[in-house]
Amino acid sequence: MLDTSCIDQPVIMIVDDQASNIRILHEAVQDLGQVYFATSGEAALNLASKCLPDVILLDIEMPGMNGFAVFNVLKTIPRLQDISIIFVTAHANGDEEVRALSSGGVDFLTKPLNVPVARARIKTHIALLREKQKLAAARRDLEDVIHHLPAFVAYWHANFSCAFSNDVEGNWFGIPADQMAGQNLRTVVGDYHFDAMYEYLDTVLKQGTPVSFDLTLRQSCHRLLSFGHVTLVARVEDGVCVGFLMLLVDITERKLAEAALFEEKERISVMLNSIGDAVIATDRQGHVTFMNPIAEALTEWSASEAVGRLIEDVMILRDGSDEFSLQNPIYLAIKEKRVVAMSLNCKLRRRSGELMDIEDSAAPIRNLDDEVTGAIVVFHDISETRAMAVKMTHLAYHDALTNLPNRMLLQDRAVQAIQQAQIKLDRVAMLVLDLDDFKSINDAIGHSTGDTLLQQVASRLKGVCRPMDTVCRQGGDEFILLLPDIHSVEAVGDMIQRIQAAIAEPFLLSQGRYDLTACIGVSLYPDDSGNVDELYRHADSALHQAKSQGRHRSSFFSVDIEHNMQARYLLERHMREALEDRIFEVHYQAKVDAGTDQVVGVEALIRWRRDDGQLISPALFIPLAEETALIIPIGKYVLYQACQDAVLWQQQGYEISVSVNVSVIQLREAGFLHMVKDTLKATGMKHNLLELEITEGVLAQEFYAVRETLQSLREIGVRVAIDDFGTGYSGLSYLKHFPVDVLKIDQSFVREMLVEKSDVAIVEAIIRLGTALGLELVAEGVESAGQVTALVRMGCHIMQGFWYCQPITYDDMTLRLKSNTKKTDSIN
Ligand code: C2E
Ligand code: CA
Ligand code: CA
Repeated sequence: MLDTSCIDQPVIMIVDDQASNIRILHEAVQDLGQVYFATSGEAALNLASKCLPDVILLDIEMPGMNGFAVFNVLKTIPRLQDISIIFVTAHANGDEEVRALSSGGVDFLTKPLNVPVARARIKTHIALLREKQKLAAARRDLEDVIHHLPAFVAYWHANFSCAFSNDVEGNWFGIPADQMAGQNLRTVVGDYHFDAMYEYLDTVLKQGTPVSFDLTLRQSCHRLLSFGHVTLVARVEDGVCVGFLMLLVDITERKLAEAALFEEKERISVMLNSIGDAVIATDRQGHVTFMNPIAEALTEWSASEAVGRLIEDVMILRDGSDEFSLQNPIYLAIKEKRVVAMSLNCKLRRRSGELMDIEDSAAPIRNLDDEVTGAIVVFHDISETRAMAVKMTHLAYHDALTNLPNRMLLQDRAVQAIQQAQIKLDRVAMLVLDLDDFKSINDAIGHSTGDTLLQQVASRLKGVCRPMDTVCRQGGDEFILLLPDIHSVEAVGDMIQRIQAAIAEPFLLSQGRYDLTACIGVSLYPDDSGNVDELYRHADSALHQAKSQGRHRSSFFSVDIEHNMQARYLLERHMREALEDRIFEVHYQAKVDAGTDQVVGVEALIRWRRDDGQLISPALFIPLAEETALIIPIGKYVLYQACQDAVLWQQQGYEISVSVNVSVIQLREAGFLHMVKDTLKATGMKHNLLELEITEGVLAQEFYAVRETLQSLREIGVRVAIDDFGTGYSGLSYLKHFPVDVLKIDQSFVREMLVEKSDVAIVEAIIRLGTALGLELVAEGVESAGQVTALVRMGCHIMQGFWYCQPITYDDMTLRLKSNTKKTDSIN
């Protein structure tokens, strides 16, 4: 910048050897600036270098150094060179004036001084000087700017010779500015660059219009390769281009940044288009701005259609059960400025409506100022993964060959079953089953047929089991069955029988018929095992026990249970044989009218005679017959026999009724009524002579279930008796609704009647009730005359009991009927 103080306050020096002249001059200029005097040339030089005047009024004629000599010295001192020097002389001849001006003085004043003219001139020079100083400062500034521009600036004449360059140090082309002046453009920039810009140079020179272009710079000073942007501005004079200004800017950084950006964009786009995940980008409001091809494929929306729509229109998210929609995670990502993971069990509803399991996550996109400008959601189809996971879980818990649960799943269920059993106080059974001799069968028929057999065994086992049971393949030909909710040991025994029967059915494969048997070992919680491990171990050792006995065997781990079960099986087997061989006999016990001692009827009681002639009490085998449903054929047999015998008695003239005991198992059976009718018909039995006895306990519990059957029986004339009355706690109030004809007072009351007062009261109450309801009363278990007397006194007249008659055979009963007298001795 210019020093303003020197502009505002010019320094004027007056040099003259005569004081009068100095005074005149001083008066003329004193208000124009700061004024200094010197009275000799030497003094002038001395003072000038101290006060650095802007203008010197220099007298030419002085003793010693004259004005010109002073002038010449001043011009050699750089600091003082630019002083404007105005010569002053008394010799106003033309020569001196010319000499003064031609030597470099800026003006010439003559003495005597014309003060106003001199002032005007001096003022003009001061103003000029001021302008000159401003200009110089401006130029310096400009030069500073130009020299420090991060650009190459040069002016070239039309003939390409350099007039000026700002590259003081020669950074651009290796040539400093002072050496570049006068050099040819081609020489300076080199052939390569010159040729590259030639067409632009040509344009500028011919058309005079400015041009700009990018230029690749080779081997410029800093780099092997860099990029420049060149601007050429023509200087036109009189319509002709006389030269041009060249501005060259290094744009390498920008170019590299652009290239890097492009590359980055390319990389991202290639990446997004080639990754396996679907990607959707949105703006802050959730409008789709980008979709990659996978996103298009999964949503079934094309990017062009989707862009601009709200994400929830394109990517519809539903919960696992498709009950409600889920918010797209981008919204949370935008709101909370963080990555948001998928919600569990998320489904994508595709444009076609199809649902697809997906896994997604969203992340916000931020700009340089860390503001969220949008978000990206990334997701992928996990239907297969999920299906695979389900499959894997299934595989992990199931046997591949039979698809049965494996030991692992069994373990879980066994633990649960035991927990349940603890709460419900019932049992859990574990059965280990091993096919007999399967190894040799497998070797003989080949493994694939063997596998088929195992699969069929598996499905038969499942067929036999209840839904809550678990059939598991332990490997090889060994299966484990877990039976929870077991109420009785007998039920397990039945299950074993059913399983063994199912396996024993022939297997008919395309390869042929195969007969298999299996051994089973059983362990029971809590009877013989306290936990799952014991169940396994005990069932296993029971299996070994069974196998040691041969094929088609089963064994309970508990010795007691095993014995009971064996006895039971034996009994059942014998019972079946007895039925088949018609070994069962029907005996009869008379019902006698105490008043007349006449037999009025008989009760049929089943008898089973063992090989040794001993009779087995029905109390021992009827319960098992009921459990195994053998009571149905047995009951039918007794009924038929009884009817047949009764008809025979009728034919002999004995019109007596026959009572037959009926089990609830029979009553529940749908075909019961039919069976009775058929039997009546087949035997020719009079309906009204048949009496069916149903125990009171059954009636009390199953009243509604059997009521209709009883009703129907009575409609066809068959009488119904309530057996063991007084033990079943039937509410007396609904007794009157029972479709019954007879009450049989239970023998326990009759037996205790004479010793226990309470029993007398009960018997009395029953008799009174029966009489009130118009029912026939029969006292059971009458063993003494005292009982008879008491019963008769209370109003019961029909007696059944050893006092009158033991259960006897048909033949004996026939004899009894013939004599028709009271008999106390047993005939059999
Ligand atoms: P229940 O129907 O109460 O039969 C009467 C039982 O009392 C008979 O026993 C009979 O022998 C016995 N008894 C008769 N008078 C006396 C006596 O004065 N003193 C003593 N102590 N006992 C006497 P049984 O024949 O052993 O039959 C037992 C039970 O077996 C029967 O009791 C009945 O519930 C059932 N039962 C017998 N036969 C059949 C049948 O064919 N079908 C069905 N479902 N159950 C039958
Ligand atoms: Ca009875
Ligand atoms: Ca009875």
